[in-house]
Amino acid sequence: MPKVLTGVLLFILVLTSACQHQSAHGLTTTKPAEKKIKSTNVSVDYPGIYVESKIVEYDDYQYAVHFPKIESETWNRELELWAGERINMFKQETEELRVPGTTWPLELHIDFEIYDMTDKFISVKLIESKFLGGAHTEEMIYSYNFNREKQQLIALPDLFQENSNYLEVLSKLSGEKLLALPDMKKLLQDEYFKSGIRPKEDNFKQFAIKDGLFILFFQRYQVGPNSIGSPEIELTEGELQHILKEDYLTSSSDQNVVVELEIDEKVAVEETSILDPNKKHVALTFDDGPHHSVTSKILDALTEHHAHATFFVLGNRVEFHPELLLRMKAEGHEIGNHTWSHPQLTNLSQEEIREQVSSTDGQIMKITGEPATLVRPPYGAINETTLQSISHPIVNWSVDTRDWKSRNAESILKEVQKQVRDGSIILMHDIYPSTAEAVGNVLSWLSQEGYQVVTVSQLLGFGAGETVAEAGKVYSSQ
Ligand code: ZN
Repeated sequence: MPKVLTGVLLFILVLTSACQHQSAHGLTTTKPAEKKIKSTNVSVDYPGIYVESKIVEYDDYQYAVHFPKIESETWNRELELWAGERINMFKQETEELRVPGTTWPLELHIDFEIYDMTDKFISVKLIESKFLGGAHTEEMIYSYNFNREKQQLIALPDLFQENSNYLEVLSKLSGEKLLALPDMKKLLQDEYFKSGIRPKEDNFKQFAIKDGLFILFFQRYQVGPNSIGSPEIELTEGELQHILKEDYLTSSSDQNVVVELEIDEKVAVEETSILDPNKKHVALTFDDGPHHSVTSKILDALTEHHAHATFFVLGNRVEFHPELLLRMKAEGHEIGNHTWSHPQLTNLSQEEIREQVSSTDGQIMKITGEPATLVRPPYGAINETTLQSISHPIVNWSVDTRDWKSRNAESILKEVQKQVRDGSIILMHDIYPSTAEAVGNVLSWLSQEGYQVVTVSQLLGFGAGETVAEAGKVYSSQ
C-alpha cells in the first residue's frame, strides 16, 4: 500500500544508529549480545483487520482463499459465507476432474485488496482465479462495501437517490471512461462492449468507494476480449452529484485510521546461535502466517525452548502484523518469503511470479529493513519458469507434518517423531491453533532426542565459511 510508514522509517533509523553505535565501540558479532529492551513505534495502516486464510494442499487439488475480517460480526459472517460458497463451487466443479498424481493440480485462488477503510466504511475487492484444467485460468472480481456505523452491507442501489436514473448515468459515464483507456476506441462498435455497459444492475454490481471516488470493476470479457483484462474506472463525486445520496462518497473527509504501535525491541539478536557439533540439527519452518494469535503463541514456545525457526510469511498478511515481523527479527528467527497470496506459481508467468515475490520482499523490508533471505513456493510447486524467476534460494522440506489436514497437536508430534532425522527441514503452518498447541511438545521431544533447533540458513550453513546460498537452487534438507 502506498502510504508512507513514518513509524517504520523511525524504526529503521533506530536500527541503523544501533549498528553504528556497536561498531564505534568495537563490539564483534561473536560476543554474546546484551539483551537491551528498546521501545520503537511502528504504524499500522489498517488496525483491527486480520486476514483469514483457508488453504488446502492436496497434490491434485489446492486452494488458497484469503479475505479480511474486522470487528464486525455481520461483516465476518457475510465474508465467511461467501468464501464457503466459492470453495463449495470449486469442489463441485472439480469433483469429476481430479486426477491423483497429476502435474497440473486444479486450483482455486482468492486474494483481496482493501480499497478504503475509515471509521465509516470498508471497501474491499476480491479477485478469484480458478484453474480447472483448461487452457486458461478463469477470473472473477467480487466486491464488498460495508457501512461500519450502520453495520450494513452496501449494495449498488443503496448509493443512489430513489427514482434517479442511476443505471443510465453509470452506463453513459462508463462508456466514456472506458473508451478513454488505451486500446479501447476500436471496441466501440463491439457487441461485448455494448452489452457490458448496458444499463442493468448486473453490469455495475462490483464497485468500491474510495477518497470521494466511486470505482467500477468490469469482469474479464465483460466489455472486451481477454487482452484488455478486467478494467476499472473511477467516477468522481462531481460526476455523480445529482444522483448520489448524501451519505456517500464523503469518505474523503474522514481520516483513515492509522495507529502507532509501540513495540519492545530486543536491540540485539538474542544468543548468536552457533551449531553445536555434539548435537543433531533440525529446522522448524512455519508457512502461511503471520497470524494474530497463532504466531505469537509459537514465538512464545520458541523463546521458552531457546529455539530459532524460519517463518515463510505471506505478503498479504504482513502489513497487518508488523509487530509480529519485528518480534521474529528481534528474537533471532529467520523470515522467508512465501509469496504475496499463495498462488500455484507453476500456473503463472515469469512476470507474475516476480511480482508475487518482490511485493512480499518489499513489504517485509518496509517493516524490518531487510528483504527475505529465502523463498518457499506455495505447495512446494516448482518448474523451470519458477526457478528462473526467483532470485533467492528456494527451500522446501523433508518432513511434512500435514498439520493443515489433521488439525491435531498429537498427530503433528507423531509425524515429527516418525519422520525426523539429522538435517531435516520440518513443515508446519502458523495459522492453525492446533499447530501452536503442538510446538511446545515438539520442541521438548526434539531436545530430549538431542536435536538443536536452528533456522534454515543456519542448518544449511549459509553465510558460514565457504557455503553460499544459491539463487534458484532447491534445498529440502541439510
Ligand atoms: Zn503455504
